[in-house]
Amino acid sequence: MNVCGGHERSISAAGLRSALPHEVELIAGPGCPVCVCPEEDVHQAIQLALHEPITLAAFGDMLRVPVNVPKTEARSLEQARAAGADVRPVASPLDAVRLAKAQPSRSVVFFAAGFETTTAPIAAMLAEGAPQNLSVLLSGRRTWPAVAMLLESSNPGFDALIAPGHVSTVMGPEEWSFVVEQHGLPAAIAGFTSESLLAAMYSTLRQLVEERPMLDNCYPEVVKPGGNATARRQLERVTEVVDASWRGIGVIPRSGFALRGHYAAHDARRRFPSYEDPSRKRAGQMPPGCDCARVVLGRIYPNECVLYGRACTPRSPVGPCMVSDEGACRIWWAGDIRARVTTAANC
Ligand code: SF4
Repeated sequence: MNVCGGHERSISAAGLRSALPHEVELIAGPGCPVCVCPEEDVHQAIQLALHEPITLAAFGDMLRVPVNVPKTEARSLEQARAAGADVRPVASPLDAVRLAKAQPSRSVVFFAAGFETTTAPIAAMLAEGAPQNLSVLLSGRRTWPAVAMLLESSNPGFDALIAPGHVSTVMGPEEWSFVVEQHGLPAAIAGFTSESLLAAMYSTLRQLVEERPMLDNCYPEVVKPGGNATARRQLERVTEVVDASWRGIGVIPRSGFALRGHYAAHDARRRFPSYEDPSRKRAGQMPPGCDCARVVLGRIYPNECVLYGRACTPRSPVGPCMVSDEGACRIWWAGDIRARVTTAANC
């Protein structure tokens, strides 16, 4: 299993899956932060944008993520913008800072969903001093607890892990040693080239064959012991680890980042608490018929969803996995996998 949208994109673009012998399956696991961003957070961002005199900034692929509301209401940030809300796509926390500085008398809310690699720059932005009119609606997630949750389940669904290179660059390779030490599974950290991914596949397969599981770093030019000390320090200073909800999956203990009280002035959850709607946590995590939850967990391949390529395409996405560049459904569609398949598990 790989747990990184960037890995899945590289694997798909290079056709690595089709080059593997049929005994070896390569499964995309929880590697798309936009896909797992809880529906209630997206809904909160939409409501904020619609009802407050603010500018709402978000990463571009978040704008089309749908929520489960009647068709008469705005179902995405893109639809909120069409209804008159000031919603702007940004590519980085620096863009959000520029936006806030360009309009100092207006409140800017940066809706930021991402893993450690996204949360660390946001922490740096706040640690170094963000504009007063900038607040963050943070939906930050830690990657390893989702893998731990799978491994602790009765059916993990994989025999070896290809660990994410970018997350390991920030947090250190040690984050993944539990896969070997607690679960006895092979693991290898990969970069984003075919060579690095193939090296990680070779390493894990060899570990399996030789029954000698270990954590192999196949991205040593970037991933160093201990990770990025500065980034980790800023994460620690600005955020605290909390239990967090993953869309379609539920709450995973200690899998989220929340801003510490010291940064309350920049915390949109504290500044605009009335838009938090706890009832949405029960409102249905994925749109009806959408199998994103099982895709994210690697339980099925994207083209096993009954809506894949029919009701759901990038032009008309039903679930978040077809929206984001890191979503497995979109990656598979972009990789020209057009056929839908039905396996016994999906009948
Ligand atoms: S094909 Fe569409 S509806 Fe099906 S799992 Fe993927 S995103 Fe969800």
